[in-house]
Amino acid sequence: MYMYELLVDYFQIPEIAHDYIPLFLRSEEIAAIEKMGRALYCPEKLRDLLSDITGDPMGLVSEAYSRSVFNKAEDGDDACFQAAVFYDRLAYFAQYEPELWKSIPKERRALMDTWYVEKYASGARGRLEEALRDNSRLIENAFFFTLDETLKIIDDLDGDPYMVPCNCKSVAMNCDKPRDVCILFKKGINSQWDRGHGKPLTREEAKDIIRFANKSGLMQTSEMESAICNCDGCCCYPIRASRLIGAKGLWPKKVYDVVWDEKSCVGCGKCAKLCNFGAFRQDGLNITFDPEACWSCTICSGNCPVGAISLERI
Ligand code: SF4
Ligand code: SF4
Ligand code: SF4
Repeated sequence: MYMYELLVDYFQIPEIAHDYIPLFLRSEEIAAIEKMGRALYCPEKLRDLLSDITGDPMGLVSEAYSRSVFNKAEDGDDACFQAAVFYDRLAYFAQYEPELWKSIPKERRALMDTWYVEKYASGARGRLEEALRDNSRLIENAFFFTLDETLKIIDDLDGDPYMVPCNCKSVAMNCDKPRDVCILFKKGINSQWDRGHGKPLTREEAKDIIRFANKSGLMQTSEMESAICNCDGCCCYPIRASRLIGAKGLWPKKVYDVVWDEKSCVGCGKCAKLCNFGAFRQDGLNITFDPEACWSCTICSGNCPVGAISLERI
């Protein structure tokens, strides 16, 4: 019998990751998951169950929760726990243990990245269809927002934002665009905040990160309630999943048409450098715009030094 047979089943670890299990999970976590299976355990039972693995069972639980190896089922001191699954753990691992993630050979990381985006896309398809059917529901990263609209979302927030490393760029590592740009608001159970992560931000700090991201070629997406994402076109799972399921224009939703005034353009090439989809291109002094390639993310518009790119609300 394969030594991790039970673990692989309970933690739903794909075969491409089997060789690296001891990097993703500590030996005590492996033993705990093998005992817990997929059942939910409340603190008293969990203490008994894990007491022959460690002298500090609740310490193990708290660390495993912080590492997204366990999930919480409810809030409070008596919260019950269940083993998470590999899909939950992978993003945390890449976000918070980047050196370990980088120690896995590039080709194997690429396979796990593809597995992750395909799994994400298959789950997102149903959520998007539901959101399109029912106007009161929104999928994550539902809209592209302009810089001003994004700053207003921060001004209108009820609570305080916090920043975490972008999980898509941490897993995919397809570019070297800024990673400390993921601004979250949700602090409830199973949020990164509740797991002990995140740098608290003032609203001004959050707005500075967004302005910096916009100038760096990162696109602002949000559904307004849980996060402001500053996304690229090569790592971002929502954008890549949207491509996979053919949802360009619907997710993140296109709100503006982009209009290029070729006569005003001075050929600086800034739009071509910023665009994540190659819609603006520069060939020597020649600039071209392909509206079919444009996702209407809007970042080129505010960054054009002569205002040659305008937005028309749809
Ligand atoms: S959705 Fe965007 S900002 Fe959020 S984690 Fe992914 S790429 Fe990063
Ligand atoms: S940023 Fe503006 S001026 Fe510069 S190439 Fe693009 S459209 Fe032209
Ligand atoms: S051309 Fe379209 S996709 Fe490219 S930066 Fe401008 S709005 Fe975004």
